[in-house]
Amino acid sequence: MSNNPEDNSIWEAVNVNNLRQKANVSVSMPLQVPIISSGFGNRIDPLTGKIKFHYGLDFRGSSDSIMAILPGTIKKVAYSRSLGNYVEVEHGEFKTIYGHLSQILVREKIEIIAGTVLGITGSTGRSTGEHLHFAIKHRGKAINPVPFLNLVYRRVEMEARKKSKRMASELTSK
Ligand SMILES: [Zn+2]
Repeated sequence: MSNNPEDNSIWEAVNVNNLRQKANVSVSMPLQVPIISSGFGNRIDPLTGKIKFHYGLDFRGSSDSIMAILPGTIKKVAYSRSLGNYVEVEHGEFKTIYGHLSQILVREKIEIIAGTVLGITGSTGRSTGEHLHFAIKHRGKAINPVPFLNLVYRRVEMEARKKSKRMASELTSK
């Protein structure tokens, strides 16, 4: 665990849901191959050509499965003119938002584990081409998802290493 207090609050928020024990994995990346096509912050809006703050990250997508990054509860399944088909998941004090989906595969109020497939990437709503718009809110305020996803990625890696070590020791003990 890092010394950054914000990092620790992330895991506390996850513990609020108390779902980690049930899950095989405690975290997941939102896509199998997450390639960022547009970052968080000011950018030239691709539709208007004007500077506009981008409250999330865009990832490349091509009919890809979108996965919940943490265990939680499906808070909202809806359509908006900007986000198109989108899913909002609640994880304690945090919310993650997945937008422009071509298909949604979950419904509101269900509890999910990390890695649950929420839907398929698409280009619905205000979009110039297929991609996933991914956003994180902390107590209602959009935060830069990059440091958060770096933590998630480290944890995914750590769990994969543990798993392969365990498998190796099981094999050699026979
Ligand atoms: Zn976006």
